[in-house]
Amino acid sequence: MSRILIIEDEPDIQTVLRFNLEKDGHHVLVAANGNDGLHELRRSTIDLVLLDLMLPDRDGLEVCRVIRADPSLAGIPVIMLTAKGEESDVVIGLGLGADDYVAKPFRIKELMARIKVRLLRSREETGDAERRRLQFQGLVIDPVRHRVLIDDQVVQLTLTEFKLVHYLASHAGIAYERYGLLDRIGDGESIVTDRTIDVHIRNLRRKIEPYDHFIETVRGVGYRFSELGVREPG
Ligand code: CA
Repeated sequence: MSRILIIEDEPDIQTVLRFNLEKDGHHVLVAANGNDGLHELRRSTIDLVLLDLMLPDRDGLEVCRVIRADPSLAGIPVIMLTAKGEESDVVIGLGLGADDYVAKPFRIKELMARIKVRLLRSREETGDAERRRLQFQGLVIDPVRHRVLIDDQVVQLTLTEFKLVHYLASHAGIAYERYGLLDRIGDGESIVTDRTIDVHIRNLRRKIEPYDHFIETVRGVGYRFSELGVREPG
């Protein structure tokens, strides 16, 4: 059973979708506008979103953009529901990271088949995510959900801090020069100095206490994630 969120303002379509999804054994949540949809996404765990393009408040494209820009939501599959004449919006939507689209009036069987495909693919990726999770004692780095947990509590990291800790931990035992480390993680900051990386590392260490000792300073070189973490996972 998957949890599916329908963001759609037309009651008839809500009803048809809910009926068919529940018949397939899914748990269905419905939001009639973009803001309610985003609110629902943030407070519950959702496996897939059906997103109408024309909504009463913010349009579907904007909702899609918000989903993809939020690291905790970005991995959720989105299927857009479009009306005739919105083909140009489809192109934009796919560019914004929507996974698929179905044009209204849609054939329900086709839509159900596409939902099934997306859920299967997403489940494979989640399995992959579990394998890609890095764990060092109570410090867990989850690269798919872009999350770091300290003793089961999510800690708020900036994107740069997340990329840094993930990169260093993925290459535990290797010392990296401070100059160039931000380039390695593909950070877009235009002016990078040794000082910049030191500030990121200092903030990162403070946030991952009491596991900050995993990030070691290598005198005259830069930083290294402790090999101890490799020997004692979990
Ligand atoms: Ca609509």
